[in-house]
Amino acid sequence: MFVNLVMEFRKFNFNLEVKMRKKVIAGNWKMNNDINESQNLVSGIINGLGNDDKCDVIVCPPFTSLNDVNSLIKETQVKLGAQNMYFEESGAYTGEISANMLKAVGCEYVILGHSERRTIFNEIDETINKKIIKATESVLKVIFCIGETLSQREKGTTNDVVRLQLIKGLQDVSEVDLKNIIIAYEPVWAIGTGKTATPEQAQDVHSFIRNLIKENYSSEAAEGIIIQYGGSVNPDNAAELLSQKDIDGALVGGACLKADSFLSIIASV
Ligand code: PEP
Repeated sequence: MFVNLVMEFRKFNFNLEVKMRKKVIAGNWKMNNDINESQNLVSGIINGLGNDDKCDVIVCPPFTSLNDVNSLIKETQVKLGAQNMYFEESGAYTGEISANMLKAVGCEYVILGHSERRTIFNEIDETINKKIIKATESVLKVIFCIGETLSQREKGTTNDVVRLQLIKGLQDVSEVDLKNIIIAYEPVWAIGTGKTATPEQAQDVHSFIRNLIKENYSSEAAEGIIIQYGGSVNPDNAAELLSQKDIDGALVGGACLKADSFLSIIASV
């Protein structure tokens, strides 16, 4: 009798977790907006959001604006993220920023493994993995980006590419630390190009990623993990993408640079 009760309770808890996957909309400002422009943009977002907290909202300004944006989002539901960090704690690493520095300036999140870091700055899976481990050790949450190029999709290797990036990026990451990781599936061919994956294409890869998490961690981890879609998300396509079963949010680039369009993506949740 007692065992049955415990089993039922676990099932109930588990179902609750499944149902409670709250959508997360993040804006990656990239190398845009000086301090003034950043303050204007985040003020517009805060004013437009009001008390609406049906999804989590993260803004990721450039390093130089983090402090000022942080001052404005205190006492609001908007959370702060950085766009990159280095895996060492301190020392002779000219131009780099550490996890602790990001935390000290108010960051709760950091984007790692973005395709622009991989292609323009030659970041490889092993480096991204070291950064993920450092970030989670430092209690920073990670938005971990993965995704295939156009030629990889055309060759039919999307799942292989995504699998490898995921496995290598998450090597030695425990199930406990995985709770602080959001995966952003961003097909490289859709980033900044105006070409979005169809909701079906995106859903297929998202469901594949969730299964990989199940195989490598557990059902609970798979059902709990947030998997965002990124790649030319805009106010016109957001609702359909976000209504897919395994799409738990969006990582938005171009369309997050205007408060109105970012707000309407949030409103489509
Ligand atoms: C991104 O940079 O993560 C991104 C998805 O950009 P965009 O929305 O402009 O395609």
